Amino acid sequence: MDIQFARIDLLGKELNYVQSVLESGWLTTAGKTLMFEEKFARAVEAQFACAVNSCTAALHLGLEALGVEAGDRVLVPTMTFTSSAEVVRYLGADPVFVDVAYETRIVTPKAVKKALEEDDRIKAVIVVHFGGQAAPLLDKNGEDGILSICKRHGVKLVEDAAHAFPAYCVQQDLSHLDEKPLRPNGSSGYVKEQMLDREKYLNSRIKWLPVGSIGDVTCFSFYANKTITTGEGGMLATNDANVAERVRMMRLHGINRDVWNRYTGSTADWEYDVAAPGFKYNMPDINAAIGLAQLERAEEMRKARQRVAEFYIERLSNLEYIDIPRINGPFEYHAWHLFCIVLKPESPVSRNEFIEKMAKAGIGTSVHYKPLHRMTYYQKRYKLKPESFPNAERIWQGTVSLPIYPGLTEEEMEYVVKTIHSILY
Ligand SMILES: *Cc1c(COP(=O)(O)O)cnc(C)c1O
Repeated sequence: MDIQFARIDLLGKELNYVQSVLESGWLTTAGKTLMFEEKFARAVEAQFACAVNSCTAALHLGLEALGVEAGDRVLVPTMTFTSSAEVVRYLGADPVFVDVAYETRIVTPKAVKKALEEDDRIKAVIVVHFGGQAAPLLDKNGEDGILSICKRHGVKLVEDAAHAFPAYCVQQDLSHLDEKPLRPNGSSGYVKEQMLDREKYLNSRIKWLPVGSIGDVTCFSFYANKTITTGEGGMLATNDANVAERVRMMRLHGINRDVWNRYTGSTADWEYDVAAPGFKYNMPDINAAIGLAQLERAEEMRKARQRVAEFYIERLSNLEYIDIPRINGPFEYHAWHLFCIVLKPESPVSRNEFIEKMAKAGIGTSVHYKPLHRMTYYQKRYKLKPESFPNAERIWQGTVSLPIYPGLTEEEMEYVVKTIHSILY
């Protein structure tokens, strides 16, 4: 068997759309990008979508447009990719790192509230919808969700949705979320509870909103191994017209009209003005063409990943040496970008040995993530100590990400699960 950790699905109209771009002779930002923006905005129910060349660029532009500047602070979870924090440094501001919940790898409303109460210099909160599950932004009573907490403190909410397209945020009762024990009745009880929850959510038609329609700014990634790809690319979604206008200007050198308008507008095509020292972050039409084809199949591919997740949950939930992720809502609301297990301390093999044995059996795995408080730059600059992040530490010691993508066959899934059993027992 040779099961790669990620395999890209390009079974739609990618080639057709790219060919039409090549034949048009216009390769950079133009009609295909505009069309991609419009369709994406509709998909996430946002008023504006601005295409850029990475999620990192979207996060940078988003914070800039929201007015984050030198000396400000921004709350960032430690359990994320370095992009989420480096963009804060681009602007001369400083990240304030916060621990995540062990069961979901997502920040809790309680932790956000505590951080904002302790530090009034925090100007924005970045949440990461880890693995494709939406963070608890919304709540039933209008007080307990991260969105309400940010609003009460006058702080901007920026969503790193690099894992979370398409995903939906449930409007749920969050009052008990932090206190919920991990596994009330041993390992199998935990999963049965998840399955029951799921039925409950589906039957009750609990309100939901697409990720991309909620915070001040939401940033998506179309990097090669993300849920939909443009090769390299990103999208910023917002409902704020001023933010969208600023982002559109700053993604292309701070020029007051983009190239496309320059060649189709009524004023002279050579004339433009520079309003600010902007960046070079625009998305070329070649990439947008791939994105349009991927967008058409986004839900089909999501469903195919959900099938893999359901298989893993069913087959791995009774293993005493493994913790599987907790899902706080219907499986249909989850983008299922990653499926991360944690090997418990009592496991007979270490995480690194486990990964080696999987590789020997022909199965690619990965690690999401070595937390940022362990990365030299952040650790040194902010004098961070592992003891401050007990949940991220527990995750980091044992975490392994398993293959999850639309093309994974039944036979391959079966082989992954059997190999895990044979390594652990
Ligand atoms: C992939 C990723 C990014 C960066 O995306 P790019 O499009 O490569 O810039 C940011 N945050 C998280 C959580 C990611 O997984």
